Amino acid sequence: MKFIALTIFPELFASFREHGIIRRAIQRNLISLEAVNIRDFASGKHRVTDDRPYGGGCGMVMKPEPLAAALRAARGMAPSATAVLLSPQGRKFNQAMARELKSVQSMVLLCGRYEGIDDRILHDHVDLEVSIGDYVLTGGELPAMIVIEAITRLIPGALGGESSADNESFSNGVLDCGHFTRPPEFEGQSPPGVLLSGDHRKIEQWRLESSLIRTVLKRKDLLETRALSREEIEILKNWHNDIEKIIRAQSSSGPDSPSGTE
Ligand code: SAM
Repeated sequence: MKFIALTIFPELFASFREHGIIRRAIQRNLISLEAVNIRDFASGKHRVTDDRPYGGGCGMVMKPEPLAAALRAARGMAPSATAVLLSPQGRKFNQAMARELKSVQSMVLLCGRYEGIDDRILHDHVDLEVSIGDYVLTGGELPAMIVIEAITRLIPGALGGESSADNESFSNGVLDCGHFTRPPEFEGQSPPGVLLSGDHRKIEQWRLESSLIRTVLKRKDLLETRALSREEIEILKNWHNDIEKIIRAQSSSGPDSPSGTE
């Protein structure tokens, strides 16, 4: 997959390209990543890319001409590219969108600055506006890196060793299970015994339960829209029965019960 970031700060992408999974994916020719300087498409001696807003007010706006020229040049490099504008007003980015975007061949990521870009660019030059969350950052470069990394992790071969994105949080509509490594005891805590048992069926069962309990406790909303498997329903029913037993035992012998208030 080909990523082309349009930015007035291309150097911000230098270190991003040189580390971890992005570096590996580039080395393995799974992705390419180019940061193109919008300033190169601005005219005049000072190559100005921003101007005061029409109607007055504070802040500056990114001028449309250099943006349009940079976008045209990017399309020349990748004619079928999806042009994404990073914007707090866009569709909220999540794992499902990362999966969706993984299927495009190339992507141009337009990084705004200042008060944003001249709105006229949206109409003919942008296919999709993407937000990384309901907060406002100073520029689109970090959001672009987030989108690039989330997509790259999903490309087969991008993750090192035998790692796979298949059982990470959100990939299956639930959160990931708990993870433990050596030492066997840390600050008085040990990993669940089943993980040391070597019994792979029981380990898988524990991981599924761990995923489910984390999702119930931390992100119940994820389960509301996801179809549960028969095995998951069975696990939830068992918990439900166990919790009911505890409640029943409490209400017959607990502090508020007739027998508990003597
Ligand atoms: N005036 C704009 C508004 O309120 O919608 C915010 C502009 S922001 C200071 C400058 C640039 O940062 C934006 O053009 C966009 O590229 C980027 N940006 C800021 N927050 C973002 C977010 N949550 N998601 C994606 N991009 C963001």
